[in-house]
Amino acid sequence: MKKKIVVLGAGESGVGAALLAKQEKYSIFVSDRGKIKDSYKKELEDNNIPFEEGKHTIEKIFEATEVVKSPGIPDKVPLIKELVAKGIPVISEIEFAAKHTNATVIGITGSNGKTTTANLTYHLLSTAGLNVGLGGNVGYSFARLLTENSRDFYVLELSSFQLDGIRNFRPDIAILLNITPDHLDRYEYKMANYVRSKFRIILKQTDKDLFIYNALDPAIKSYLEGTHLSQETIPVREVLFDHQHLTFSPTSVFELSKCSLKGQHNMFNSVCAIQVAKRLELSDQQIQEGLDTFENSPHRMEVVATINGVEYINDSKATNIDAVYYALLAMDKPIVWIAGGIDKGNIYSTIENLVEEKVKAVICLGVDNKKIMETFSKSKTIEETQDVIEAVQKAASYAKAGDIVLLSPACSSFDLFDNYIDRGNKFKQAVLNFGKTIGNK
Ligand code: ADP
Repeated sequence: MKKKIVVLGAGESGVGAALLAKQEKYSIFVSDRGKIKDSYKKELEDNNIPFEEGKHTIEKIFEATEVVKSPGIPDKVPLIKELVAKGIPVISEIEFAAKHTNATVIGITGSNGKTTTANLTYHLLSTAGLNVGLGGNVGYSFARLLTENSRDFYVLELSSFQLDGIRNFRPDIAILLNITPDHLDRYEYKMANYVRSKFRIILKQTDKDLFIYNALDPAIKSYLEGTHLSQETIPVREVLFDHQHLTFSPTSVFELSKCSLKGQHNMFNSVCAIQVAKRLELSDQQIQEGLDTFENSPHRMEVVATINGVEYINDSKATNIDAVYYALLAMDKPIVWIAGGIDKGNIYSTIENLVEEKVKAVICLGVDNKKIMETFSKSKTIEETQDVIEAVQKAASYAKAGDIVLLSPACSSFDLFDNYIDRGNKFKQAVLNFGKTIGNK
C-alpha cells in the first residue's frame, strides 16, 4: 500500500514535499496552523492537493504513515511529541526528497557561509557545464527541485533544523564550514546539542563518501577527537591568499583580480567549493572561469555605493558575532560600524580587539542597544537610533573619504524590520537616497 504522507507547514519545504508526494502518487494531506501564503495555496489548489490552514485536525494527521515536518516546527511541540509517541515517523523534507533520487548530492552546512559556499559550488559546477541543481535552505526546496528537471548533481544548503529531521539522508559530499553559537534557543541553550545537530550531515556517510570540514574550528575539532570516520576526509586548514591570488595547492593557484568574494572567510568558503569542483574533475581553467564570474546573493558584504569617497557595505545577513568578526577582519580601511537589533546572547568580548583596532565610531540601530553601548562606549564614539535613514546620516557624519560604512549587525532584525532582507534593502535605499540628497562629489 502506498504511504499516506501528511505535511506539517506549507512553506517552501512543505509545498515542495507535497508536490513531490503527489508526483510519486502518495496519498497526501497538508496542514498548517497558521495562514498559508497565497502563492503556495494556489499551487496546492492547482495540483489538487488537500490542505487546511489555521488549524491542525488531529484525526487526519494521525492517519499518516509518515509525517514531513517543516524545519520551523520544533520537536518539542505537543503534536510532534504525540506523533513520535504513536510511532509515526516524523522526518524533514530533505529526508523525504533524498529517498526519491539517485543523483550525487553535495550537502553544505555550518553556522555561517552556507549560502555563499552553496552558491559558489553551484556556480563552479554549472559554468563547467555539469547538470546541477541548487536548493535546500537557499532558493527552492530539494523536493520541489526533484519535481522539475532531473539533475545529475544537487548542491544543497542545509540548516541544523533540516538536519534534525533526517534519518537515512547520505550526501555523497558533505561540507561542514564552522560551528559557532547560533539558534541555541532551539537546542536547550546547549552548544553540545547544536554541534551534534550539525554533525548529523555525516550521520549516514560511508567509505564511498567525502567529508570536507574546517579543521581549525574549535567545536569541530573537539567533536572529532576520538571519533572514527569511515569516509574519506579533507580537513581544510590555513588558507593561503593575498589580494591577487588564492593558493589552493602548489600547482593550483587562482587569480583573484576579477573575483567578487573578499576576506578570509570567503577564501575559506572558496577552498571548500574548489575541493568539490576538483573531486568532480573540473580543470583549474574551469574553476578560474567560475571564480571570475561569480556573484553572491545580496546582503553578504555587498558593496552598495561609494559616496564622497566613502564606501557603503551591506552585510545585513551578519546576524551573529562570528560573521561580524570576519566582516571587520576583511576591511582594510577605517570603519564606521552600524550594528544592533535583537540580541541572540552575543558575547561581544570576542570582537573587542578588532573593534578597537578598526572601528572609528559605532552606530547602534536597534530597539534595545544596552549591551553594545555598555561594551563599546568606554573606548568608542557611539550613537543610537531606531531609524535606518538616520543611521546612515550619522554614520556618514563620522566617515571621511577612504573610510567604510559597514552595516554588519550581529543581531537579528525583527525589532525594526521584517527580516534581514528588509533591513538590507532599507539600508541600501537609505544610502542611495543619501547619495542623491548630498550630491555625490
Ligand atoms: P549562512 O547561509 O550560513 O547564513 P551566508 O553565506 O549567507 O551564510 O553568510 C552569512 C554571513 O556570514 C555574512 O555576513 C557573511 O559575510 C558571513 N560569512 C560567510 N562565510 C563565513 C564563514 N566561513 N565564516 C564566518 N562568517 C561567514
